[in-house]
Amino acid sequence: MTDCIFCKIINREIPSDIIYEDDQVMAFMDIRPVSRGHALVVPKVHSEDFLSTDDAALEYITPKVKQIANAVMIAMNADGINITTNHGAAAGQVVFHLHFHLIPRYKNDGLKPWHHHDSEQKTRTELADLIKKKL
Ligand code: 5GP
Ligand code: ZN
Repeated sequence: MTDCIFCKIINREIPSDIIYEDDQVMAFMDIRPVSRGHALVVPKVHSEDFLSTDDAALEYITPKVKQIANAVMIAMNADGINITTNHGAAAGQVVFHLHFHLIPRYKNDGLKPWHHHDSEQKTRTELADLIKKKL
């Protein structure tokens, strides 16, 4: 896609710090990292987001995400890693080219992205039923 920032990175129209590349996947450092070593893994074929990406592309990229996450963990001497993708603006997606965040985590790094709430059994059962009907 012509106006996609990640397609431009893939096509080397704009610079990035590439850490992995093959014919289908690229990984590079995030320009505004959440933590030290924050990297992104993307499919080379433009795809807007996770749910619109075909299964074959996901099947290819998933082991690459694992391999690169492992390298990031070791290279950064991290204690953990968040492997995540934001789907849709409401979920925080800003760049609409599928990407997996690899966010190394360090003991006591203070990053707390999720706030959990208490829930009632009745509500959980109702919500589970709604989801199950769509599977
Ligand atoms: P999103 O919010 O869409 O899940 O994440 C987009 C990510 O892309 C952000 O973490 C942001 O810092 C990163 N990003 C945005 N523009 C660029 C860029 O031009 N180069 C690189 N390397 N990362 C970018
Ligand atoms: Zn793109």
